[in-house]
Amino acid sequence: MDTEKALEKIMEAKFDDFIPEIDPKERVGFRYPLADELLETSSEETNQILDSLANEGLLIRFPFDKLMACPKCKSFNPRVSTSCPHCGHTNMTRGRVLDHMLCGYVGPESEFISSEGYTCPKCRRALKLIGADYRSPGLMYKCESCSKVSLSPKETFICFECMHRSSLEELSEIPVLGYRLSSAARTSTRSISVPKMKLVDWLKSRGYQVSVPGRVIGKSNVKHRVDILAEKYSKGGFLADRIFIDFYIAERESSTDPVLSLFAKGMDTEISRLLLIVVPKLSKNTSLFAKMYNIEVYEGSTLEEAIVKIFAQAPDASKWLLGR
Ligand SMILES: [Zn+2]
Ligand SMILES: [Zn+2]
Ligand SMILES: [Zn+2]
Repeated sequence: MDTEKALEKIMEAKFDDFIPEIDPKERVGFRYPLADELLETSSEETNQILDSLANEGLLIRFPFDKLMACPKCKSFNPRVSTSCPHCGHTNMTRGRVLDHMLCGYVGPESEFISSEGYTCPKCRRALKLIGADYRSPGLMYKCESCSKVSLSPKETFICFECMHRSSLEELSEIPVLGYRLSSAARTSTRSISVPKMKLVDWLKSRGYQVSVPGRVIGKSNVKHRVDILAEKYSKGGFLADRIFIDFYIAERESSTDPVLSLFAKGMDTEISRLLLIVVPKLSKNTSLFAKMYNIEVYEGSTLEEAIVKIFAQAPDASKWLLGR
């Protein structure tokens, strides 16, 4: 799907924001369900479309969330694993810790347990009253390898895809972006769709059947797409007139591509007229090309202006009333 068509659909849907949804099944880790549905594209294609619309300034990216990925393979599968901050061993036992204040020994509760209740494994004295001669600082981790006790273990992330180990700081932060329409998109699309619809209505009022966009299968069996297809049928149901209309919004330099493309579509199909509506105008050479190929060109600084020229030409141009 081209970005222009996508933008049209987005504008028609009058949506607010495209919010990403975390989806570990996706290669990138998230997708845009609303956009997938609207554009009828795979989430990978949706990402490309949203990205290029944003590059064109038609959508605005905004930070929504972030994902932590393996720095080596970029998968979203790093799982936290704890290890001893002293020796790195992963075999740590978590338990309640007791602190014998009289001798200063700190150790897991299990070491204090004896047949007579709590007994300090260091000084062998019995523990009497919590808060008086001993206390419990909470949970601690005891390393089964070096026997050292630590308040918190060291957190390491192990990637379940490639088994790479990294610290929290080493994990890759992948920004998850939301998208919303830019004001440029609103103005640009409005400035396209309103005059376009005017032209469509005008053609309809003249008895044409109009498709936007139009699709015609050519003699070569190639399916051609035109921005507007206007057809008129005779009473007997025969095709009496067919007009192909393409729009060309020339950004910087006008190219011959739209002229050649329209000409090719015309060559391959039974048509009466080829119209190219150009903003702002074709180069001199391209204009010559268009003339050579029998393409009628309507130019204007805006689409509205170009289209009005078609209307203006109509009263004295009986060819608009070809439908016999
Ligand atoms: Zn990995
Ligand atoms: Zn003690
Ligand atoms: Zn250790």
